[in-house]
Amino acid sequence: MPTIQAIQSVISSHFPEKCAESWDNPGLQLGRRNADVKRVLTALELTPDIVDEAIQTGTQLIVTHHPFIFRPIKSLTDANPDGNMLLTLAEHGIGLLAAHTNLDSAPDAIVKKLADDLGLSGRHPFLEHHPYEAYKIVVFVPRKDAEAVARAMHAKGAGCVGQYSSVSFSADGVGRFTCGMDSHPAIGTPGSVESVEETRLEMVVSGRELKSVIQALLAAHPYEEPAFDVFRLESEVHGMTDYYGFGIAGRLPEPVRLDAFVAHLKKIWEIPAVRAAGNAGKMILNVAILNGSGAKYLSSCRGIDAFITGDCGHHDFDNAIRQNIALIDAGHYDTEKFIPRILADVLESSEIGGELEIRIAESMRNPMTVY
Ligand SMILES: [Zn+2]
Repeated sequence: MPTIQAIQSVISSHFPEKCAESWDNPGLQLGRRNADVKRVLTALELTPDIVDEAIQTGTQLIVTHHPFIFRPIKSLTDANPDGNMLLTLAEHGIGLLAAHTNLDSAPDAIVKKLADDLGLSGRHPFLEHHPYEAYKIVVFVPRKDAEAVARAMHAKGAGCVGQYSSVSFSADGVGRFTCGMDSHPAIGTPGSVESVEETRLEMVVSGRELKSVIQALLAAHPYEEPAFDVFRLESEVHGMTDYYGFGIAGRLPEPVRLDAFVAHLKKIWEIPAVRAAGNAGKMILNVAILNGSGAKYLSSCRGIDAFITGDCGHHDFDNAIRQNIALIDAGHYDTEKFIPRILADVLESSEIGGELEIRIAESMRNPMTVY
């Protein structure tokens, strides 16, 4: 039976904690890592109703988007509602795991769902995010093997620059070495002094792929002790980590009036009420979406006709009108309520998916009601 640790590994491989914002607190919040899990419940956040549903359905692990433990806890008692919920979970052997901004920034999760629903083209991250550093890897290979080593490294993602892939540079030279008496050289014999025609092969690689590229290099290289160097780059490599970002921007299939666009959002995302600033007849073509709470990023909207986010206040709407951007508050909950489905899909399609019973919480609801 899968353990909490195994489930955390699946979530982390899709949404690495390294891709979260520095202030965030994703990961395992409560639970024994080696505890067995049969039933998983996914939800947007932990609430008393979710705790009840987890107990009633015999759940061993709750996976949420919003981390319940966010700030340091000074005590854990039943004297306050939050402590009471955590104690109840612990008493029932229910773990708690969160994937927050590490999921927000992933290219194939919530931003994809929202952009797909609107049929956006020309997509790019609304806010850039570069969780991985850029590296240059240089390896010295016998000339006849250079192409095979390059191919193996490219296959693991090395040499991507913007829209170009398999980018490398090579220069020929001579490598020299003395074989140790206990060595097993591919060229030469133990004790011999060798000089070999080699190729210096170099290419850029993202920190995300660095480890697997080095493994591929070592596997493809004929030498017992391949010589290679890894340099961290100060310069930015265009496009190397463009797949990470917060929110998404793009173009609608055709221009549409603001009032019709808002009506469309309400319909496709089943939102009871949407607040928006802007002239009802304003034509909308280029849009940006930032799930959750994004009003403070209004100033990042360049060439954007409409900005869809949640948690907007009076001054945000006022500011948007002055900047001639239609600001659409579709709600924090209503732009993120799809995430439990995404979490369930990730687990279901994983290697351990067949051994789990995954349930999307039925007691999940918007904490705010429109009357
Ligand atoms: Zn949120």
